[in-house]
Amino acid sequence: MTFRTRFAPSPTGPLHLGHAYSAFLAHDMAQAAGGVFLLRIDDLDRSRSRPEWEEQIYDDLHWLGLTWPTPVLRQSERLPRYREALEILWDQGLLYPCACSRADIRAAASAPQEGAPLHGPDGVVYPGTCRPATPPTGPMPDKPLRLDMARALARLNGPVAFTETGSGPDGETGQITPQDMGATVGDVALARPGMGASYHLSVVLDDADQQVSHVIRGQDLFSATQIHVVLQRLLGLPTPIYHHHRLIRDDTGKRLAKRDDARAIATYRAEGRSPQDIRDMVDL
Ligand code: GLU
Repeated sequence: MTFRTRFAPSPTGPLHLGHAYSAFLAHDMAQAAGGVFLLRIDDLDRSRSRPEWEEQIYDDLHWLGLTWPTPVLRQSERLPRYREALEILWDQGLLYPCACSRADIRAAASAPQEGAPLHGPDGVVYPGTCRPATPPTGPMPDKPLRLDMARALARLNGPVAFTETGSGPDGETGQITPQDMGATVGDVALARPGMGASYHLSVVLDDADQQVSHVIRGQDLFSATQIHVVLQRLLGLPTPIYHHHRLIRDDTGKRLAKRDDARAIATYRAEGRSPQDIRDMVDL
């Protein structure tokens, strides 16, 4: 198997030290394995993605000394592919339309009879307000759609499992049992308003279509991986090997965010630091 991995930033702000660590690690692991490092632009969120941030991603990564094959895959160009997969899931009776806003979901999940709202990999666990008793029929509507997780899990035979060569935030390795995913993860959104597809659906299709063998990414995405495995199984796609890595934190222990300009790669460049300085800062 050829080792193929990818770095998939969203062009919604400057890359910071955490991105540099993730990109270096994926690039180094690919190089050590004689494999391929791909860059992918996760620009599905059209309201937040900007061409100037995309340009800066290319600039910063080149400056760090990384190389990748071109042309790069941009998610915004793949909406027909995402739609095709949604149609497959719709035809299997696994999706339903849901127009609830985040505020609606928070309110419904906080209703007194519900107890404390449960948080999952996708924020507050959707309380199932729009879930129909029987799968909807007819053509797929052009509306936000959710996956009926309980129905989806019933379709899978065998546990939801993946190989982890790094670890989750609490030292977890890859085995997960599906029984409680209906409750702890819930009916995740797969088609979002204005975005065509959600991150969960697009990442699974992109990794499969790019023949990614190893997904190397931050531990913040560890809990989302079970969703990705469910989707891979439903769509008949291979499950890559996952390597979730530690997160780079600021001096107070907080995870770096896009708005944390002080730790932006561009800021370090402007200050005259070198790519080796950046490697030293992230202990690589
Ligand atoms: N675009 C995602 C992010 O910036 C990365 C997704 C992934 O690596 O699966 O967090």
